[in-house]
Amino acid sequence: MNNWRIGNGYDVHRLAPGLPLRIGGVQVEHDRGAVAHSDGDAAIHALCDALLGAAGLRDIGFHFPDTFAEFKGIDSKILLRKTVALVAEKGYTIGNVDLTVCLQRPRLKPLIPQMRAVLAETMGVDPDRVNVKATTTEQLGFVGREEGVAAYAVAMIRK
Ligand code: MG
Repeated sequence: MNNWRIGNGYDVHRLAPGLPLRIGGVQVEHDRGAVAHSDGDAAIHALCDALLGAAGLRDIGFHFPDTFAEFKGIDSKILLRKTVALVAEKGYTIGNVDLTVCLQRPRLKPLIPQMRAVLAETMGVDPDRVNVKATTTEQLGFVGREEGVAAYAVAMIRK
């Protein structure tokens, strides 16, 4: 059990009025949402990239191209489930994952326990192995101007 590996992921989605906003597998009540081919869940996309990166399996766009009709509007939890299966196929299990979501508004704090539970269930791990953090960017940059949502993730996996 000494073969530990680490990966990181980053994702951004543009926000526009009147669209649904899904973050970490949880629906967020807001007046704008993510412009995307999938459901635009930046947190899950960053997490998938972290897991794929740790396993040396390239990235989310390689496995789930946004030109494929089959992924149009897809629930990102399905992509996460498929990602975990790819990582497992290479013989790895998940140690822990840690996410940071950058969003100016609304405050995500009340939703974090639910995000951890949903992500853990989707990945088939204990919620203790999944950490989610949320931050604003103090009104700076595209996140601060509420033009987008950004997410960072790291993942440790082991064989
Ligand atoms: Mg994305």
